[in-house]
Amino acid sequence: MLINVARIPEDGMPLEGEEPPEIFELEEPGDFRVAGPVCYELFAQLVSGRLLVRGTLTAPLETRCARCTQIFSTTVSDSGFLRDYSGIHGTEEVDITEDIREAIILSLPHFPVCDEGCKGLCVQCGKNLNKGPCGCPGGAGSGAWGTLDNLSL
Ligand SMILES: [Zn+2]
Ligand SMILES: [Zn+2]
Repeated sequence: MLINVARIPEDGMPLEGEEPPEIFELEEPGDFRVAGPVCYELFAQLVSGRLLVRGTLTAPLETRCARCTQIFSTTVSDSGFLRDYSGIHGTEEVDITEDIREAIILSLPHFPVCDEGCKGLCVQCGKNLNKGPCGCPGGAGSGAWGTLDNLSL
């Protein structure tokens, strides 16, 4: 994303729009896939010869749940985006794409879960316990109640 420095008025300028997900193409952030455009709501201001850009970035994500390993959709956002560009004197445009990409990557969750109540996988048989108890002895869905549950289905 290019910011045209010459067009920023004295009291600053809001910048709103989208960056295509392709900006992540060269650097796929691990188990994450950016599933759509990165929305930005930024404010650009010139302060004593420097370009100050701050605001919020939001991107839709697809990632793998750390508990049940299912792929799920979520969003990641950075409401504290703040960058300060110096040495812009005589520059017409400042490219902040790299910083947008970096901010999103730094905001990725370390332990993504599809749902706060995700039950994860059975450690014995590997069944996704969100889809029902597995009946393993000693497992979450075992015992008389588990059997009754199975019968009632
Ligand atoms: Zn899950
Ligand atoms: Zn099991």
